[in-house]
Amino acid sequence: MASAMRVDLDGKPIRPLTICMIGAGGFIGSHLCEKLVAETPHKILALDVYNDKIKHLLEGDSRPWADRIQFHRINIKHDSRLEGLIKMADLTINLAAICTPADYNTRPLDTIYSNFIDALPVVKYCSENSKRLIHFSTCEVYGKTIGSFLPKDSPLRQDPEYYVLKEDASPCIFGPIEKQRWSYACAKQLIERLIYAEGAENGLEFTIVRPFNWIGPRMDFIPGIDGPSEGVPRVLACFSNNLLRREPLKLVDGGQSQRTFIFIKDAIEAVMLMIENPARVNGHIFNVGNPDNEVTVRQLGEMMTEVYSKVSGEPPLETPTIDVSSKEFYGVGYDDSDKRIPDMTIITKQLGWNPKTALWDLLESTLTYQHRTYAEAIKKATSKPAST
Ligand code: NAD
Ligand code: UDP
Repeated sequence: MASAMRVDLDGKPIRPLTICMIGAGGFIGSHLCEKLVAETPHKILALDVYNDKIKHLLEGDSRPWADRIQFHRINIKHDSRLEGLIKMADLTINLAAICTPADYNTRPLDTIYSNFIDALPVVKYCSENSKRLIHFSTCEVYGKTIGSFLPKDSPLRQDPEYYVLKEDASPCIFGPIEKQRWSYACAKQLIERLIYAEGAENGLEFTIVRPFNWIGPRMDFIPGIDGPSEGVPRVLACFSNNLLRREPLKLVDGGQSQRTFIFIKDAIEAVMLMIENPARVNGHIFNVGNPDNEVTVRQLGEMMTEVYSKVSGEPPLETPTIDVSSKEFYGVGYDDSDKRIPDMTIITKQLGWNPKTALWDLLESTLTYQHRTYAEAIKKATSKPAST
C-alpha cells in the first residue's frame, strides 16, 4: 500500500514526486513502475513506444493507483511533447536504449543514435529546467578488465586490483573500432561524460546507474512467441528459449566469459533508494550488481538446465549445451567483456544497500515464471504444421 509517512535514510519525510520515466515499458521500467505504484505515493508519467509489459498496471478502473500512472506513447527521437513532460515532473529517469548485444555490431548506427544522440535532448531539458536526472548507463562502459591483458598463467590475474570494477578508479578499455560491439559502450560512456560535464558546468543534479546483468521475469522476449523468430535477445532469454523448446543451449566461444547476475527485485530496491534520497546520490555514479553471483556463461547454462528441469519436471537433454563461434552467433565485429565484478564501496557507503538473492534462487523464481508464461505457447507453436 502507498504510505503517506515514507521517510528517507536520514529520517526526513519524503514528499510525493512526479517521475517522468522514459523507457517505462521495458524490462527494468516495468519492475520499477510496479514497485512505485504498489508501495509509494509517487506519480509516474510513463513514456515508451510499447506498453505490453506494463499493461497490467494501466488497465482496469479498480486499480488503487489508477490516477498515479499515465502512459504516453512517445518515441523520444522525434516528439515535441518530451520537454513538456520533463517540465511537469520533479525527476526524470531515462531507461530508453537499444541494449541487446546482438544489435551492437549488426545495427551500430541505431545503437549509437539510441544511446547517445537520442539521450541528448533529455539531458538538455533536465539541465535547462533544473530537473533531477537518473540516467541508466551500463557496466559495459568498463569494457575489458586489465587482467585480461596479462599472460594466462600470471598470478596477478587472481588479484582483485586487476579485475574488480570501480566507478572512480577503473579505466574503460574497449577493443578496436572494427569490433563494433563496443559502439554501445562508447556511446554510453560519452553520454555519461556529457551528463557529468552538465553537472560540473551547469549544476545539473544527476545520478548515473551502471547495471551489472540485472535479470528476472519480463526480460526481453522469447523468439517466435512475443518477439521476432530470428531475434537474438540477451542470454537469459536465449537460454530460456532453448530450454522451453528442448534445444541445446548455445555457448558462444566456449562460454568462458564471466558475469555476475543480480535479481531484478534486488536491483529495483537500489533504484528506489536513489529516487528517495537525492542528497545522497546527486553527482554519483553507481555500480548496481551482485558480486557474489559470479559464474561463467557455461556454468550459468548448466545451472539453468538443472533449475529448469526441477521447475518443469522434464529431464534435461542428454547433450544440454553446444559450442558456437561468436561469428556464427552474432556476426562479424562481435567481441566480449571477459569478467564483470562490481566494486560495491560507493553504493554501500551512500545508501547502505546490498543485494540479497543467490543465483540459484533468482533462477528458480525466473524460470518458474518463464515456464508458466511460455510453455503452453511454445507447445502450440511447435505442434503447428510448418507452413509451405
Ligand atoms: P529494455 O530494452 O527492456 O527497455 C528499454 C525500453 O526503452 C524499451 O521498452 C524500449 O521500447 C524503450 N525505448 C527505446 N528507445 C526509445 C525511444 N526512442 N523512445 C521511447 N522509448 C524507447 O532494456 P532494460 O533491460 O530495461 O534496460 C534499461 C536501461 O538499462 C537501458 O538504458 C540499458 O542500456 C540499461 N542496462 C540494462 C542492463 C540490464 O541488465 N538489464 C544492463 C546494462 C544496462
Ligand atoms: N551468450 C551465449 N549464448 C547465448 C547468448 C549469450 O553464450 O545464447 C553469451 C554472450 O556471448 C556473453 C554472455 O552470454 O558472453 C552474456 O550475454 P548477454 O547478451 O546477456 O549480454 P552482456 O552481458 O554481454 O552484455
